[in-house]
Amino acid sequence: MLRVYNTLTKKMDEFHPIHEKENRIYMFVCGPTVYDYPHVGHARSYVAYDVIAKYLRYKGWSLFYIQNITDIDDKIINRANETGKSWDEIARTYEKEYHKAMKKLGVDAVNLYARATEHIPEIIDQIKRLMEKGYAYETSDGVYFDITKFPEYGKLSGQKLEDLQAGARIEVNENKKHPYDFALWKKAKPGEPSWPSPWGPGRPGWHIEDTAISERYLGQQYDIHGGGMDLIFPHHECEIAQMEAVSGKKPFVRYWLHNGFIEVNGEKMSKSLKNFWTIDDVLKRVRPEALRYFLLSTQYHSPIDFSEEALMQAQKTWEGLARTIRKLKKLTEKGKEGKPRQEIKEELEKLGKAWEEAMDDDFNTPKALAVLHDWATLVNREYDGMSREEAKQALELLERWDSVLTLFRPVFQGESDEELVDGLMQVLINVRQKLREEKKFDLADRIRSELGKLGIQLNDKGKETSWERV
Ligand SMILES: [Zn+2]
Repeated sequence: MLRVYNTLTKKMDEFHPIHEKENRIYMFVCGPTVYDYPHVGHARSYVAYDVIAKYLRYKGWSLFYIQNITDIDDKIINRANETGKSWDEIARTYEKEYHKAMKKLGVDAVNLYARATEHIPEIIDQIKRLMEKGYAYETSDGVYFDITKFPEYGKLSGQKLEDLQAGARIEVNENKKHPYDFALWKKAKPGEPSWPSPWGPGRPGWHIEDTAISERYLGQQYDIHGGGMDLIFPHHECEIAQMEAVSGKKPFVRYWLHNGFIEVNGEKMSKSLKNFWTIDDVLKRVRPEALRYFLLSTQYHSPIDFSEEALMQAQKTWEGLARTIRKLKKLTEKGKEGKPRQEIKEELEKLGKAWEEAMDDDFNTPKALAVLHDWATLVNREYDGMSREEAKQALELLERWDSVLTLFRPVFQGESDEELVDGLMQVLINVRQKLREEKKFDLADRIRSELGKLGIQLNDKGKETSWERV
């Protein structure tokens, strides 16, 4: 029985989706605001929900999983103004970077990515209904949600409206009736991107895009909403207010799941603290599977302490497991014939059960990875006496787990010489560097173009050269 920690009930709940009989689950996770390169915090969140989605499918549920893409926002407009580019050029550029990074990390469980700007009619329609029901009002600069009309505001974060007022840390806006009223529609200032609406040209507030998108594809009530812990308040609180006010149905979402932060020396990783790593920064040091392994080594609720050493250690551990898998794979082809032993079968079954128990315990990936290490211990211990059939059974179990964890795809797909490729690429890069120093640019360029033909791109940054498959 799967149990999940539910932020709404503040306890471990047995998991029963709304359409349990039909075997269906609907899930929504807050997608990125696309104004910059994706960072390790994004990787953490989206790897976590990728594993959650894949585990639910592994358990036999038919899951529909949506992520929104916030492609209009103050941050995007600011970035556009700073760089002299248009808002949509910024948004499309970084949306592409986001998808590129997710693909590298094996994040591929999302069924639909929905852009905010492609759902303006749904957003306007929802705001209109909120106004008709008396939950929203128009001012000179926008349309706001009136939180005094929704007494349950604060139920997700466990805060009372009175307490919120005491610790007010929000922007002062004299147009609003209450300091915590939030914008549903922002009227355009001169030069800002805008869409026509009954309240004049403008753009949607952040919170309304999620509920407009989820209402369209998932209905007024659905099963799982995920996101980072920093989104509980006010973002998810506002989503609940909007949707429960519009529909009159409770709860808007049954299970609210939230992932912890990435920390560096006990502080939250953030741009302002300059302790910040983009996904690309990390992938210059380790392979994507190692970053994924590192992220899954901590339960998704808990904060992760990020350091280069921990990352390198994760890569080492990953390599060890990969070696065992490669070895076993060979045995499935060249191993001896023979009937599989009952005790091996039983041990594999026990491991299979333990792994599911770990995942049923609120997707406890560190426990699941510990089972994976027990599996490797078994394989290494029994290797010499293992028959082809036994090797196949052991490998099949791991492949099933990896349909969820997505850590060893390249190994299964036969990328067994990855370490060798890495080494050879480093030799080529060093030789090319030497040639360039000696001003033999024609030869250096030839290395680049020949590698290009093999689908390998060299990236020069100052004196450093990195490579990637394109
Ligand atoms: Zn969101």
